[in-house]
Amino acid sequence: MAIVTAADEKRVIDTAPKQLFIGGQWRESSSGATLDIEDPSTEDSLCSVADGTPADAVAALDAACDAAEDWAATPPRDRSEILRRSFELMNERADDLALLMTLEMGKPLSESRAEIVYAAEFIRWFSEQAVRIDGRFSMNPNGSGRLLTMKQPIGPCLLITPWNFPTAMGTRKIGPAVAAGCTMVVKPAQQTPLSMFALAQIMTEAGLPGGVLNVITSRKAGAVTEPLFDDPRLRKMSFTGSTPIGKKLMEQASKRLIKCSMELGGNAPFLVFDDADLDAAVEQAVIAKMRNIGESCVAANRFHVHESVADEFAARLTAKLTEMPVGRGTDDGVQVGPLIDGSQRDKVAGLVEDAVGKGAKVMTGGDRVGDKGYFYAPTVLSDISPDAELLREEIFGPVAPVATFADEADAIAAANSTEFGLVAYVFTRDIKRAFRVTEALDVGMLGLNRGLVSNAAAPFGGVKESGFGREGGPEGIEEYLSTKYVALDL
Ligand code: NAP
Repeated sequence: MAIVTAADEKRVIDTAPKQLFIGGQWRESSSGATLDIEDPSTEDSLCSVADGTPADAVAALDAACDAAEDWAATPPRDRSEILRRSFELMNERADDLALLMTLEMGKPLSESRAEIVYAAEFIRWFSEQAVRIDGRFSMNPNGSGRLLTMKQPIGPCLLITPWNFPTAMGTRKIGPAVAAGCTMVVKPAQQTPLSMFALAQIMTEAGLPGGVLNVITSRKAGAVTEPLFDDPRLRKMSFTGSTPIGKKLMEQASKRLIKCSMELGGNAPFLVFDDADLDAAVEQAVIAKMRNIGESCVAANRFHVHESVADEFAARLTAKLTEMPVGRGTDDGVQVGPLIDGSQRDKVAGLVEDAVGKGAKVMTGGDRVGDKGYFYAPTVLSDISPDAELLREEIFGPVAPVATFADEADAIAAANSTEFGLVAYVFTRDIKRAFRVTEALDVGMLGLNRGLVSNAAAPFGGVKESGFGREGGPEGIEEYLSTKYVALDL
C-alpha cells in the first residue's frame, strides 16, 4: 500500500523546478531540448527537464565569475546565516524533498528522508565553519620579520555529482564552497536532477545571491563540461562518481592544472573475526550492504569472515536479507527499491551469474524481481571462488558475497587486494587486533564494529583509486580555500 497519495506524487513533480538555473534565473536550454526523467520502479516518465548545451554551461560559468568578487567579500557571518536558513528549510520540507528523491532515484521513502537529514547536516556543519576560517601569524625562525598565512576562496568551481545520493553528494560540495566564499556551477547526474534543482530553489529562498550557485543538467555530460576545463576562470573541480570518469576528468583538469577533489569508487571489505560479536556484525552488515539498495560507494562489497564463524554469519545474514520487502519506494514497509536503471540491474545480474558459474552457492535471491522496474532480489552468496568478478568489481546492488579467511594476515591481505581504498569495516572484540588491523588497511575510512561511517563532522574520502580530497569535517572546507603566505618585514 502506498504511504503517499498519487496526488502528492503529482504535486511534487508538477511544482519541482525543471529548468537550468543560471545567474539566479530559471531558463530553458539554449537549444530548447529536454531530457526525460524516469521512475526506476515503473520505467514510466516522470517529467522532462532542460537538456543544457555547452553554451549554457559557459553562461553558468559567466554567472559564477560575475558573482565571485562580491561573494568572496560577503561577510562570513552572512554566508553562514544563508546556509543556516537553507538547513532549516531543508528540514521543514523534508517530506516533499524525500518524495521527489524517491520518485527519481527509487530508494525507499524512509531512506530518502534520512538522506535529506544527512544532506542538511553538511549545510549546517559548514554554516558553522564559515565563521572559523583563519590563518597564522608567526615569527620567522631566524627572528627577522614575521610570517603571515591567510586563507582565501579558491574561486569559481565545477561540482559534478552522481545519482546515488542526489542531494547529499551535492551538499558535501556546495556547503563548503558557499562557506568558503566560492561561486559554482553544479552538474548533477542526468537521472536525478530534480533533487538538485529543488536544493538550488531552497538556497535561493534562504538568501543565496544569484550567480553563486548555478545548475546545469544535460544528457551530454562530457560535451557541456569540456569548455569549462578550457576556461582559465575555472579554478577548482570536485567530482563524485566512478573511477574511470574521474581519471578522464583528471586528464582534462591537468591541461590548466585545475585543483581537483576526487570522490571515486569503492570495494569495501567487511571483516568478521572469530572473536566478533556476531549479532552486532550481522546487524551492521545489513546496514553496510543494504543501505541505498547497495548503490553506495561505501557499501560493503565483500564479506571476509573467519572460517570458524562463516557458515553461521552467512546463515544469519541470509535470514535478514530474505525478509527485506522489495518494492516501489513509496510503498509501506518497503526496504529495497529498484536499481537506478536497466544497465545497473544487468551489471548486478551479470556479476552474480559469473560468481555462480565459478561455484558460488545462492543462499537467497539471485534473480531479478518483477517485470516492470529495475528490481533485483536481496542476495547472499557463499562458497565464493577467489577469481569471482564481484570480489574485484564494485557491485552497486543488493548482493552480499561471503568469503572466508584462515587468519589475520590472510584477512588483511584479502582486504587490501584491490585498487580501491575508500572504506573498510572490521568486527572484533580484541582491542589489540582492532588497532593492528586498522593500521594495516589501505583505506581512507574505517568502521570499527560499525557498518556506517558517514557523518558531516568527519572527513569522508579515500586513498588509492578511490580518489583524494576530503568532504565534511574541518578538512572539507580546505578543499575550497587557497593559502597565501605573506613575508613581513616589520
Ligand atoms: P559516473 O558515471 O562516473 O557519473 C558521475 C557524474 O559524472 C554524473 O553527473 C555524470 O553525468 C558525470 N559524467 C559522466 N561522464 C562525464 C564526462 N565525460 N565529463 C563530465 N562529467 C561526466 O558515476 P555514477 O554512475 O553516477 O555514480 C556511481 C559511482 O559514483 C560509483 O562508482 C560510486 O562508488 C561513486 N561514488 C563515490 C562516492 C565517494 O564519495 N567516493 C560517493 C558516491 C558515489 P551523467 O549522469 O550525465 O552521466
